[in-house]
This record gives sequence, structure tokens and C-alpha cells, in this order.
Amino acid sequence: MKKLLFLALVAFAVFQISPARAYVLEGPSWGVPSFTVYLNLTASQGQLGANLATFPLIDGSTSYNQVYANAEAIWSSNLQNLKINTVIGSNAQGVTMSNGLNEVGFSSTILGYALSQYTLGLTMYYYNPSSNPNRMTQTSTAINPGWRWNSYRGNLTYPVIDLQRVALHESGHMIGLGHPDQAGQVVNAVMNSSISNTDSLTADDIAGGQNLYGTPAGQTGAGAQGGASPTPAPTPTPKPTPTPKPTPTPKPTPTPKPTPVPTPTPTPTPAPTPIPTPTPVPTPTPTATPVPTPTPTYPVTVTAGPTPTTP
Ligand SMILES: [Zn+2]
Repeated sequence: MKKLLFLALVAFAVFQISPARAYVLEGPSWGVPSFTVYLNLTASQGQLGANLATFPLIDGSTSYNQVYANAEAIWSSNLQNLKINTVIGSNAQGVTMSNGLNEVGFSSTILGYALSQYTLGLTMYYYNPSSNPNRMTQTSTAINPGWRWNSYRGNLTYPVIDLQRVALHESGHMIGLGHPDQAGQVVNAVMNSSISNTDSLTADDIAGGQNLYGTPAGQTGAGAQGGASPTPAPTPTPKPTPTPKPTPTPKPTPTPKPTPVPTPTPTPTPAPTPIPTPTPVPTPTPTATPVPTPTPTYPVTVTAGPTPTTP
């Protein structure tokens, strides 16, 4: 029996930053020294339409695949016992869960689940809850083609989204990290459920990865590549505008006939003014409800649903 988990990164909402330390683990992780990700971003970039960037990208990258490969290399360089290999894929659909491959590509759906317009990326992974509940067996990521993707460091320049920090986030899910902010933690982390001005792995992100896969020789622990110092100085940050409590919305009764497919219901919430844009955009609160699926061939569990929290 396979189970599946969804993890989404959503746009907007600025988070308070404080120097606490406490990553979150998803549960399952990899029990192998390496796994290979097929990069289908270039093959599927036709889905971007008018959102397609001109190349080279702002940071000089010559392709979206190159940006993603760099993110995987950053993670790998911070882990002792896991290497994320990448190969160039050719899947123009971006991701196809049923092919058994670990893929990353532009796609507005993944396994029949449509990304909400506010979702930047969605990572799913399989594990076997009965025979090996602690081990991932496959993982793929859909990057929402509805956004304008580029690659740059520094503050987020909405509505042009930096693919690298999203790649770092989704790759964190691929190796077993969850959203610290959704676990009540207030930390500066790429792994928080909402994108922010944080453009690289933080000490908290790295500590999470190294908890699972060890610290490379020569590194003293969290803080190598892209990481902040283990004890970051408390940087006073502007108070984020309060996020209104999500208003419960009636959930449509899901479940079509043939196969029970997860129908998480995003509950859009009016958002505080986002990043530096004149355009106010609502912050989503996709509250994916765990859908315990019956028996069939494809039991699916949906968890996680980014819930922007008010610090
Ligand atoms: Zn996420």
C-alpha cells in the first residue's frame, strides 16, 4: 500500500524572523545514498506561455533546469549521506507520477490534483506505510506554470518569482523536511510554507537536512552552504501585516466515483498586502484535509496545506 503526501509552497505572506532553531521532519526520508531527479523544466517550459523568461536569467543561469540542478547541488553539499543526482529529462508534461520517476517540471496538476493559483510548487512523495513507513520511494514536484519564473538572489521581486529558492524549498520536501511555521515554529527558513525574502538555506534548514543525513566531514554542522551562522543575531524585522483568520468555507463533498482522489479544498483568505506590489493578492489557506481513502489500489492521503500563520 502506497501513501502519498502533498506539500505546497504558497506565495505571499511575510514572516517574522527570530533566531529559534527547530526544523520539522515529514517522517519518511531516504534510506539510500542517492536518488536521481529528472529535470523536465526546460522540456515543459512551453506551458509558461507569456510567463516564460528570457535567457539568460537574472542570475546568469541559462536554463530553468540549471537553476534547479544548482539547488540540488546546494542541498547535496550540505548532507553527508545523501546526494541528489540530476539528469535532464524530456517530459513535456512536467511530471507524471505514474512513471515511477522522481521528476520536477512545470505542471498545473500533479496526479490529478490541480495546484491553486497561489501555489508555487507542490511536492508529493510515496512511502509504504505498512512495510517501510520511514522510507520514501518516489517523489516529484510540480512547479506552477502560472507564475513568472526567473532566478535571482535577494528580496523577492513579486510577481517575478525566484525559482532557486522555491527549488530549495521543494527539494527540502523531497528529502523529508516539512514546514516549520506550520508546526508553530517561528524561524527564518526556506522551508517555511510561504515564500519570503529568504533566498538560501538557513541554519535551520540545514540542521534539518543534517539531522536526517548527517553532516559532511569538514563542516561543523548547520551553516555551511547558504546557511546563516548557527546563532543568527536577532534581526529586527518589520512586523508582518496580520493575516486574518481563515474563514471556514463549506467543503464540497469530494470523491468522484471510480478512484478516490484527494480533493483538498483550498480556503482562500484575503491577504495582507503582499510584498512590494501594488497589486493586492489574496493569501490562500489551502487547508488540505486528510482524506482517508478506502482500500482500492491507490490509497491516498493528503496532508499539509500551507496555512499562513500569524506569528
Ligand atoms: Zn512546502
